[in-house]
Amino acid sequence: RAKETGRGRYENYRPEMDAEREERNRLEVDLRIAIERREINIVYQPVVDATNWRLIGVEALARWTRKGYGPVPPDVFIPIAESSGLIDQLGLFVMHRACERIADWPGIKLAVNISPGQFRDPEFSQHVASMFRKTGTDPSRITLEMTEGYFIQNPDRARAAIARLKKLGVEIALDDFGAGFSSVGYLRQFGFDRMKIDRSLVHAMSEGDHAVQTLQATVALARSLGMPVTAEGVESEDQALKLRMTGCDELQGYFFGRPMEAHEIDVIYRTDRGRDGKRIA
Ligand code: C2E
Ligand code: MG
Ligand code: MG
Ligand code: MG
Repeated sequence: RAKETGRGRYENYRPEMDAEREERNRLEVDLRIAIERREINIVYQPVVDATNWRLIGVEALARWTRKGYGPVPPDVFIPIAESSGLIDQLGLFVMHRACERIADWPGIKLAVNISPGQFRDPEFSQHVASMFRKTGTDPSRITLEMTEGYFIQNPDRARAAIARLKKLGVEIALDDFGAGFSSVGYLRQFGFDRMKIDRSLVHAMSEGDHAVQTLQATVALARSLGMPVTAEGVESEDQALKLRMTGCDELQGYFFGRPMEAHEIDVIYRTDRGRDGKRIA
């Protein structure tokens, strides 16, 4: 292995790049097998009403434990699924499983993440519709979360895809707002129903007035466009209270609950208890 001093010289070292590519290929092969064998697990993170901290929804998040290695974070395997064409199968699998599970939680909404690649399938909205029928899911309980990247690259196709999905009766949320380019124009022209504020904006609140003002302006903007706002990455009571005052109607973050197994949501749902088992309303 190259020592620190010699690092620069090895930047274009071929065998190393081959090794990297090989490892990536192995990851892809293992991921494909895991999806086929349905070894992708789904965890659910609570979403609470900002005014009383009661559970009103969950976000489904995919988890993969790679055999012989351990957990692989979604930020690693989702991009692999996207670039290898596995995302369609993975995405529908997550949605299907999660829709089956929320049958146990009447009145609770479900948010599912959608990758841009899934839009490339012109029949995506039909797949979603037939999945709703099979699982007996009321589409009005479902939020599909998307990030802005695709809208910048393919505005026309994105607009058409969103329109088809909205016809099914689902809510469409713009995920991670504030993390990237985040143009206001996109909010308006694509007809998002909800804005999810990225946790980087939430965490920046503690850095002072300027960040708080940015956040306030962002929420005010969303609301002026008629969009309710969910804040992500809420890690403290102080943040939760401030975000409520700012006008966020839903909160999500470690303060209220980490992504957890469905049976743990069962308990919260049954007892209507909040964080740490304390009664919260
Ligand atoms: P996301 O949709 O923005 O999901 C929120 C992420 O923030 C989750 O990371 C969650 O665990 C994390 N998080 C929640 N609360 C807090 C908090 O208080 N503090 C901090 N530091 N983090 C918090 P996770 O589960 O690692 O997922 C990362 C991303 O991977 C997701 O971001 C989403 O873009 C993607 N992803 C996960 N599952 C799926 C899936 O089934 N399909 C697709 N297309 N993407 C998925
Ligand atoms: Mg999300
Ligand atoms: Mg997000
Ligand atoms: Mg994200």
